[in-house]
Amino acid sequence: MSVATTCPYCGVGCGVLARAAPDGSAQVRGDPAHPANAGRLCVKGAALGETVDLQGRLLYPALRGADGALHQVSWDDALDRVAGTFRRIIDAHGPDAVAFYVSGQLLTEDYYVVNKLAKGYIGTANIDTNSRLCMSSAVAGHKRAFGEDVVPGCYEDMEQAELIVLVGSNAAWCHPIVFQRIAKAKEQQANRRLVVIDPRRTATCESADLHLPIKPGTDVWLFNGLLAFLFQQGAMDARFVDAHTQGLERALEAAQAQAGDPAQVARICGLQLADLLAFYRWFASCERTVSVFSQGVNQSSSGTDKVNSIINCHLLAGRIGKPGMGPFSITGQPNAMGGREVGGLANVLAAHLELADPVHRDIVQSFWGSPRVADRAGLKAVELFQAIDEGRVKAVWIMATNPVVSLPDADRVKRALARCECVVSSDVVSHTDTQAFAHVLLPALAWGEKDGTVTNSERRLSRQRAFLPAPGEARADWRIVCEVARRMGFTQGFEFRHVHEIFLEHARLTAHRNAEPGCDDSHRVHRQLNLEGLAHLDRGGYDAMTPVQWPVQANGMGTSRLFADGCYAHADGRARFVATEARMPVHAPDREYPLVLNTGRIRDQWHSMTRTGKAPRLTGHLPEPFVDMHPHDALRCGVREGELARVRSRWGAMVARVKHGGGILAGSVFVPIHWSDQFASDARVGGVVNPVVDPVSGEPEFKHTPVSVEPFPVR
Ligand code: SF4
Repeated sequence: MSVATTCPYCGVGCGVLARAAPDGSAQVRGDPAHPANAGRLCVKGAALGETVDLQGRLLYPALRGADGALHQVSWDDALDRVAGTFRRIIDAHGPDAVAFYVSGQLLTEDYYVVNKLAKGYIGTANIDTNSRLCMSSAVAGHKRAFGEDVVPGCYEDMEQAELIVLVGSNAAWCHPIVFQRIAKAKEQQANRRLVVIDPRRTATCESADLHLPIKPGTDVWLFNGLLAFLFQQGAMDARFVDAHTQGLERALEAAQAQAGDPAQVARICGLQLADLLAFYRWFASCERTVSVFSQGVNQSSSGTDKVNSIINCHLLAGRIGKPGMGPFSITGQPNAMGGREVGGLANVLAAHLELADPVHRDIVQSFWGSPRVADRAGLKAVELFQAIDEGRVKAVWIMATNPVVSLPDADRVKRALARCECVVSSDVVSHTDTQAFAHVLLPALAWGEKDGTVTNSERRLSRQRAFLPAPGEARADWRIVCEVARRMGFTQGFEFRHVHEIFLEHARLTAHRNAEPGCDDSHRVHRQLNLEGLAHLDRGGYDAMTPVQWPVQANGMGTSRLFADGCYAHADGRARFVATEARMPVHAPDREYPLVLNTGRIRDQWHSMTRTGKAPRLTGHLPEPFVDMHPHDALRCGVREGELARVRSRWGAMVARVKHGGGILAGSVFVPIHWSDQFASDARVGGVVNPVVDPVSGEPEFKHTPVSVEPFPVR
């Protein structure tokens, strides 16, 4: 019998019906009852069944011995080593000498317990996630604009819109089912328009009515120009702005000063003026407009300002909280949203409460009954590994992620882990680039074996359910964390016997927060993350849970669209315009590094390929690392299509095969993020990417590193 579960790849969060096959694979098909995909699956989702075999799996705990090799040990020995080492380091150096680096691949319940251990029991906020790398600018932008990290709309809005603006999003490859929904809606109604804003002419552009090949990094000029244009054209919804917002004057002043002249904006953004004005006019005249943004916006040293410059335009035109309109951050990972709900970032607490707010800290601490709660923000992903390199953090537990491949300045990450006193890796696979530095390996359950919940980009909680037996000695992440917590001496707070109990505690905390007298009225009235309707599920109810969007009312009903009442989570209930500063990326190209490196995903691979790399039908699409570049740039660099080239920056180098035809602007190159030294030598683009981050969100500037390209080997 098939089990209803959720795809473990992108943030679309498609429902999957899956069952074990006798040959060790699985049969999968799209779940027709799941609202995100209504039975569809993209090529990655459809190949899930080919990725569940046990080849390359981490099946037993292991410790690195004095001989430098990893040796299989008992769970007791491994857990005692982790708990003992963390305890010893905390006693000697304080709680901030340890850290956790977790992942959007974790289920919400896993995320919840590891945050509880770090922030509420150890007393450090040094817990960050690889979701920092993909959507933390959206989180920061949401908080500035709405007072809370919320995506206001739903996928249906994209089907109901007259104008869809995709900004920094190759949705056709990276969020295929959402893109298919948009494309189908467009087919059904010819006057629907699609604008794609992206320096590359991607597969997404094939369906676009207008492609704006924006110069990398200039998005704030574009959207500040739009804000000024909308105001000047009388497209402002004055009633909405007066009743529900604050801060227009300053935002408009900044926009007009920097981007009041469309001709100048077109020049700065590298666009044809006629195309820019066509976009501005369409936006001004289409009430039902949805702006979908993704990594091309977020992964920037001005990512948060880019996000707010987009949201500002929706606030000015009053296009939010109603069907077919709104800004929409689409997340990269399957549970980026769920991690945010339970405090998965170093600067927030569970239930969307703020680490910086003493009232919020009290609410969480009293609810948990914990001995303490971290009272200052922890280290965000990039700075966390810098702190390890500098010896300030002496032990790190890395869960379900591979930072030696995925972080910027990844060679420094390698050096940091090489000198770290204790590196713990809990993962489903063995032999990742990161595990080469681990002192302790802990085998975790994989997709298909574990149970819990995830939340997709439209705030929809779905169950992941097990349909395969636990292999070897692998355990659920939450169980491993609870075991370590108890061995560290935290006898209360981690007695969970089933994942259902963790979910209930999380749901109850969201409801408790809204009823807590210490929380001011505005928070009680307007905070959106609320799982009250799920806070009393029994085990059977949890097992049978169907997909639902938060906030979930007491009667169990979900909410597809927020802000219909015009109430936001800021203390005065008003949304904020944010005056955004247009600025270029931190590192400009120069004579030595004349090209701009842009990184991203390809259609058929996921992250560092530990799963998708197993399916031949996926590896056949683009089988090896490549650098996509304009033929003129290739000529100038002395490299030819099909030959190997070295891509080099101030931070490191990699080798990839030269390719043309990816719709790239002259002056830019594109390299996919997926390959690691496990698959090809010198293939980690993370080693080339600069470590600059957005000052508000801490999200790295993955889309803009100056590089050179040269023949390899050097001729
Ligand atoms: Fe999975 Fe995303 Fe594809 Fe849906 S669109 S099947 S969630 S990878």
